[in-house]
Amino acid sequence: MIITQKKPIEELLAMLEGVTKVAIVGCGSCASACQTGGEPEIRAMKTLLEEHGMEVVGTVLPDECCHKLLVKKDTKALRDSGAQAVVCLACGDGTQTVADNLLLPVYPANNTMFLGQVERVGMFNEYCRMCGDCVLGSTGGICPVTQCAKSLINGPCGGQRNGKCEVNPENDCAWIRIYHRLVALGQEEKLGQTRQDKDYGSVSYPRHINLRAKKS
Ligand code: SF4
Ligand code: SF4
Repeated sequence: MIITQKKPIEELLAMLEGVTKVAIVGCGSCASACQTGGEPEIRAMKTLLEEHGMEVVGTVLPDECCHKLLVKKDTKALRDSGAQAVVCLACGDGTQTVADNLLLPVYPANNTMFLGQVERVGMFNEYCRMCGDCVLGSTGGICPVTQCAKSLINGPCGGQRNGKCEVNPENDCAWIRIYHRLVALGQEEKLGQTRQDKDYGSVSYPRHINLRAKKS
């Protein structure tokens, strides 16, 4: 799930300076689960913007704000609403998708934090940095790119103390976790494997995947 957090409201209000009519777009998927972009948050945002003198001329809640066709369909109603700007309560992906579909300034109400595991309602853990070349098969299912503060993929830095990371002692050392996990799985030999350095410099952003092209 893409984890989002609300921006400080002062930041959003600064973006909206001079705007008197505004629309709000939420997200029925990740941002709803993060309590940043569902129905309650849209209602709260509407109240807040009205308290700051703005008229909210429309609100929509696409099932997934990163889905171009869904957003296109759901935001149609906003085109002639008189909105001078849109406040988007989705992630950065959803906010850009709204901007793709509406010729209006679209302002993010959230910061997009990470791709994370939902531990419990309202509790999220960063689990993947989407490196594009997954090494979990050789690390016992624990991501060294994400769980190690230095993203070391070929073993520890040596700075751990009592199993805790030297960068942030609140976190367990990822490589000690990987070691114990591989031992428990009977896969200790994988500790000796050398994994290829991540060559982020060779990645051409933005990346695109077209399954249709592959099938044809
Ligand atoms: S190695 Fe880590 S960052 Fe890369 S794809 Fe796998 S889980 Fe994600
Ligand atoms: S102590 Fe462990 S988790 Fe922290 S940076 Fe070093 S290897 Fe990575």
